[in-house]
Amino acid sequence: MALYVHKYGGTSVGNVERIRHVADRILHARDGGDQLVVVVSAMSGETNRLVSMANELQDRPDPREMDVLLSTGEQVTIALLCMALQQRGCPACSYTGGQVRILTDAAHTKARILDIDTERMQADLAQGRVVVVAGFQGVTGEGDITTLGRGGSDTTAVALAAALKADECLIYTDVDGVYTTDPRVEPRARRLDRITFEEMLELASQGSRVLQIRSVEFAGKYNVPLRVLSSFTEGHGTLISYEEEENVEKPLISGIAFNRDEAKLTILGVPDRPGNAYKILGPIAEANIEVDMIVQNVAADATTDFTFTVHRAEYKKALDILSRLRDDLGAREVTSDDTIVKVSLVGVGMRSHAGVASQMFAALARESINIQMISTSEIKISVVVNEKYLELAVRTLHDAFKLDQA
Ligand code: ASP
Ligand code: MG
Repeated sequence: MALYVHKYGGTSVGNVERIRHVADRILHARDGGDQLVVVVSAMSGETNRLVSMANELQDRPDPREMDVLLSTGEQVTIALLCMALQQRGCPACSYTGGQVRILTDAAHTKARILDIDTERMQADLAQGRVVVVAGFQGVTGEGDITTLGRGGSDTTAVALAAALKADECLIYTDVDGVYTTDPRVEPRARRLDRITFEEMLELASQGSRVLQIRSVEFAGKYNVPLRVLSSFTEGHGTLISYEEEENVEKPLISGIAFNRDEAKLTILGVPDRPGNAYKILGPIAEANIEVDMIVQNVAADATTDFTFTVHRAEYKKALDILSRLRDDLGAREVTSDDTIVKVSLVGVGMRSHAGVASQMFAALARESINIQMISTSEIKISVVVNEKYLELAVRTLHDAFKLDQA
């Protein structure tokens, strides 16, 4: 007998009719005799509704009270789903995070899971029940309710799958899998049958917002095979797992990620002395500004130009800091550009193939797309280009690497 964890997102349980539909799906999945633990989100829009009420009452809502409030959304859907299952003659029992005992730290609104007690769930499963667990929430050692950060139900599902040693964790959502790139930018984007954890992390962190990033990290760490699929249509979705055996031929490129909200800052003519990179990035880090790409190169006159990218929302703050640093460092000038985007090719196949970068640059050159910055890792090559080229760059690369063909 196999054990599966299913997770249904907010749109999949968005109203009573859809909850009935989820119940039918669960019944169908049980036909084969498998054991099921089901994690649900709050109805779509509900968590946002709760957040805005809190914001109306308190400038910075107390995090502990926020968690008491936000956890209610998922409590509604677990109970309704169990009712729908029972109505269909399927024994089912709902649990809040505290009842299962999903033990977390006390970092309210962004808690981390420390431990999960599987005893009660195991007992229910052995009795033939479907176990329905509220996503996104846990409890501290003191008994306070916590939540895991927005989108946290994915992490609940993966954590339960890891604790129960489930065969697979299936994330049912409103898309039917992970695509080679965003189909809104490239309509020929293709659903991937499988992808590695590593690739998914690169695609997810760069804008393919299908799964909460933490859930993918968690799944990789505990080797939980993760499948993303649609709760509205049939299909196998995309399996996210470890790399297949060495002898299986891997696709060179799995997908193209992009990031629209980037900005670039350069401090020019910094005297080339030890410690200057730290003097520039130290204050940026202290201001809690996250830096993405960094490029530094020494010129013939023994000064260096130092360029880095940040999220566009933090651009002004970073620019202020650099402008203040300029005189201290004896630098010549600060320049900046908040009309840039990052486009990345991602694929584990790159590891064993040379020449991917030159192929990428050649394709962009044919379209006269100017590359402003480049960075590479084992499984990724990123370029920064002007935002007006984003769509063209993505489509050009999708075509050049024949990503529309399996
Ligand atoms: N309901 C929570 C949210 O909207 C958790 C989730 O949906 O995963 O963020
Ligand atoms: Mg969600």
